[in-house]
Amino acid sequence: MKVLSVSSEVFPLIKTGGLADVAGALPIALKRFGIETKTLMPGYPAVMKVIRDPVVRLQFDDLLGAPATVLEAEYEGLDILVLDAPAYYDRAGGPYLDQTGKDYADNWRRFAALSLAAAEIAAGLMPDWRPDLVHAHDWQAAMTPVYMRYYPTPELPTVLTIHNMAFQGQFSADIFPSLRLPPHAFSTESIEYYGHIGFLKGGLQTAHAITTVSPTYADEILTNEFGMGLEGVIASRRDVLHGIVNGIDAEVWNPATDPVVHTHYGVTTLKNREENRKSIAEFFHLHDDGAPIFSIISRLTWQKGMDVIAATSDAIVALGGKLAILGSGDPALEGSLLAAAARHPGRIGVSIGYNEPMSHLMQAGCDAIIIPSRFEPCGLTQLYGLRYGCVPIVARTGGLNDTVIDANHAALAAKVATGIQFSPVTAEGMLQAIRRALHLFADQKVWTQLQKQGMKSDVSWEKSAERYAALYSSLAPKGK
Ligand code: ADP
Repeated sequence: MKVLSVSSEVFPLIKTGGLADVAGALPIALKRFGIETKTLMPGYPAVMKVIRDPVVRLQFDDLLGAPATVLEAEYEGLDILVLDAPAYYDRAGGPYLDQTGKDYADNWRRFAALSLAAAEIAAGLMPDWRPDLVHAHDWQAAMTPVYMRYYPTPELPTVLTIHNMAFQGQFSADIFPSLRLPPHAFSTESIEYYGHIGFLKGGLQTAHAITTVSPTYADEILTNEFGMGLEGVIASRRDVLHGIVNGIDAEVWNPATDPVVHTHYGVTTLKNREENRKSIAEFFHLHDDGAPIFSIISRLTWQKGMDVIAATSDAIVALGGKLAILGSGDPALEGSLLAAAARHPGRIGVSIGYNEPMSHLMQAGCDAIIIPSRFEPCGLTQLYGLRYGCVPIVARTGGLNDTVIDANHAALAAKVATGIQFSPVTAEGMLQAIRRALHLFADQKVWTQLQKQGMKSDVSWEKSAERYAALYSSLAPKGK
């Protein structure tokens, strides 16, 4: 089967979050099911810089107002179709935000163009390759099934994956004429959303199947609290909604071979983590005194519960914990966390920024990773934590609920516990979880058992890729 995947981020080419990891790993995991994926993504400067020997596959004189070229290149096992459109993607800022941190004003055009290019490829415009199915990711690619709906070509099945319902791509109705859709596309059955235009909304209405990245999140988005205004649309499409938990790239994330990890280890050589712990203590200027180091590797936002970390930081230190925090995001939260570090030298260390190698080393050296998300479609850092023996302490929501087994009495006795879950995401809830962690940590036999059980849990793509493959074949024309 041939699949066109459409994503605005693909690891290792460009990444701002978990979407990139999934878009980069799933095509590789699907190969063993006979699924050949080409991935269409924007030609950001970071991407154009690294692709080698690209071949021109398609040219548009006018893709929603600017010329564009589709280039094909191999990159680390991925078959990439790069949408090279300098007017849209050759910018000095990030994929979505300019250098001052503001959304690009023409994001609607930049990502409608990506979706339209995907629809053109699906329609067979690339002379010698046409997919059997199209898989679009998040709002940036969600217009793909919308454009495909209005194409006068044979229908192909489409899958839309929601990685985060909080990002919906909503724009003023004024852009409608520039989208070059037929007038009847401006309807509630399609992209119209309370008088505005919703890219994700349109995708949810027009895709043949919808997936989200964990079963719990699939249930949660049917509610007012998590549906972010789209719960009604989701409810109306409930029969095609699937929750498939993300896996991780078990080669990139392997504590026995990870090139940025100073001292490699496995389930029987956990003692080796000690050396990595020392490096972390050094990097974050933390006392090396045997008290556990709790790590945070996260976007610093309200969604991720980082205000709760800021509010409880003094109490965590008072209880005897240390914090190593890596992240960037909301300037006010960055400020409160830096202030906490200034109040507690040697107990709290904060590094503001995006640092992929450090994120690996932290998983390999810290004792636990705290993930107090208010909602979490899947979450990847708890999966990396499990794989690296960095015990996850997580809010009981979304994919965190599906992937971490709480160390309650029964689970500890049955030797299946892999971390700590807590709820609600409040200062009280957080501190209760920290107290439980400290209690478990005090008995190193129990703690090591938690680490080992986590390391043995299956966080690979194997099972999840099988579920995507089954979904694809249920949708694709027979014989594919
Ligand atoms: P989200 O996609 O909502 O941000 P996920 O947990 O699904 O959250 O994925 C986050 C990904 O980004 C993980 O791979 C995590 O290791 C990485 N990450 C987050 N913040 C940083 C950072 N400051 N430096 C390095 N990696 C980070």
